[in-house]
Amino acid sequence: MNALFSEEELMLKAAVREFAERELIPKASGYDKSEEFPWENIRSLSSMGLMGLTIPEEFGGASATYSQLMIAEEELARGCASTSVIHLTHLSLGSECIVRFGSKIQQETYLPKLASGEYLAAFALTEPSSGSDAADIQTIASRKEDGYTLNGSKTFITNGPEADLTVVFATTNQDKGTHGISAFLVPKGVTGLTISVQKGKMGMRASSTAELFFTDCHLDSKYLLGNEGDGFHIAMSIIDSSRMTVAAQAIGIGQAALEAALKYANHRKTFGKKLAENQAIQFLLADMATNLDAARLLTRRAAQLKDQGENYTKETAMAKLAAAEAAHYVCDKALQIHGGYGYFNDSVVERLYRDQRVTEIYEGTSEIQRLVISRNLLKGI
Ligand SMILES: Cc1cc2nc3c(=O)[nH]c(=O)nc-3n(C[C@H](O)[C@H](O)[C@H](O)COP(=O)(O)OP(=O)(O)OC[C@H]3O[C@@H](n4cnc5c(N)ncnc54)[C@H](O)[C@@H]3O)c2cc1C
Repeated sequence: MNALFSEEELMLKAAVREFAERELIPKASGYDKSEEFPWENIRSLSSMGLMGLTIPEEFGGASATYSQLMIAEEELARGCASTSVIHLTHLSLGSECIVRFGSKIQQETYLPKLASGEYLAAFALTEPSSGSDAADIQTIASRKEDGYTLNGSKTFITNGPEADLTVVFATTNQDKGTHGISAFLVPKGVTGLTISVQKGKMGMRASSTAELFFTDCHLDSKYLLGNEGDGFHIAMSIIDSSRMTVAAQAIGIGQAALEAALKYANHRKTFGKKLAENQAIQFLLADMATNLDAARLLTRRAAQLKDQGENYTKETAMAKLAAAEAAHYVCDKALQIHGGYGYFNDSVVERLYRDQRVTEIYEGTSEIQRLVISRNLLKGI
């Protein structure tokens, strides 16, 4: 036990760090360059029990708390950010929908497979014309006698090509606004769903991203998640908790950049002395570490509030905003400390700089986090 972490949490941190050092770090650069989906890493995560970390034990998971998930996610991202986004999309977005909103039958059917890693999950909310304005969903799910027919498209869907199960949000009643949006579990290979891989990302290049096209895609009623009209509430409450996992991811990326900068500054000599002997560099390192620790504490607070059943919307938005911006600052300064060597793609900091950037965009951009925070601040006035 130390001031911040319990014995159990410290053991988890050490175990995931050891795993990431051994399995993820040596392969991260190769996967980034090849843009190949890191199946080997996902199989290793499955055998470590990490794919089902927060899924309840009765369904084969580890019933971990969100505080524990934050610790694991930071260590995974420190090792390989691409693997971390595949993991968090599977767990805190896709699988979490079924943990929180699935029927008993849906939970019994899917959670054991998701927990073991036999199934990979995805979460499809964003559309070509609606990202930040998530309520403006154009995909339609028309009610039929024996289920629903989906028409429309989704974009930027992480794990889209590989997912065995994708949670898809579509409008079942356009007159009802957000209350007319419903959520569906879409199994892999269903007729009427075509998937187009989106290559060429700036970072997170080993994670897959895809457009999903629904053309008269028929789903039986058993694939409806929750009740008709619950979809927007499901999407918002899942993103509310999942975005703290993105905060932990950003911190992990920033931590890797800080460590690389410390090592380099302590080794590289200019004007007859080590970079680290210059106060200008020392101050940079101090600011980098302080920004990361502040974000880490905000993230831990958000996770603890969730674990204690308290409201955590504002605190999660603060954690995600602070962590993404801290990681941006840290990766930028780490690259600067590496000088010209940091600008080439055989340096770790060049990859971290690119991987970090999307943490300011997905699961709500930094502007959207500021909107969420200020709305909550103004609510009580
Ligand atoms: C690599 C990657 C993976 C992703 N994975 C997934 C996934 O698995 N599932 C999924 O559903 N989505 C996913 N997304 C989509 C992501 O969540 C959206 O890109 C994000 O929400 C922003 O939406 P947008 O791209 O449409 O930008 P827009 O909403 O068009 O915003 C453009 C810019 O305008 C700003 N802006 C918008 N509205 C306002 C406002 N009111 N005030 C001030 N500024 C504003 C935004 O902050 C942004 O800077 C992913 C995206 C990427 C890049």
